[in-house]
Amino acid sequence: MTTASTVSPWDDAIFWEGVDGGRLLLARCARCSRIQHPPSPMCPSCGSVSWDVQESSGKGRLHSWIVSHHPSRPDAEPRVVVLVDLDDGVRFVSNLHNVQLDEIQVDMPVEVTFQLVGDTVLPLFTRPGGGT
Ligand SMILES: [Zn+2]
Repeated sequence: MTTASTVSPWDDAIFWEGVDGGRLLLARCARCSRIQHPPSPMCPSCGSVSWDVQESSGKGRLHSWIVSHHPSRPDAEPRVVVLVDLDDGVRFVSNLHNVQLDEIQVDMPVEVTFQLVGDTVLPLFTRPGGGT
């Protein structure tokens, strides 16, 4: 899905506004249509500085993952940090949600889910249909 608005290339506010509304919005070059995530000032393919917004389906496949034991708080649970190949053609770093360690497989299908973490909504990934 495409929206008509144009984003400032170095402004990630549109991304976070999308997340707050339960949408994964990506920057798409207005000249060559390359999807760029994270946003950058200039398109690495054609040099354009004009960007449009594309809504991602949020679907993709697990490229790689690790269990992070580096605690952000003394009682924090380890997190599964994932690298997802989105169907849109970009990689996305996030955490896996609601998936047991023995269920994780490289290339497994995943989809975005928007979860409140502390006081911030974050785009996390889970199995299709597992975003409760
Ligand atoms: Zn471009």
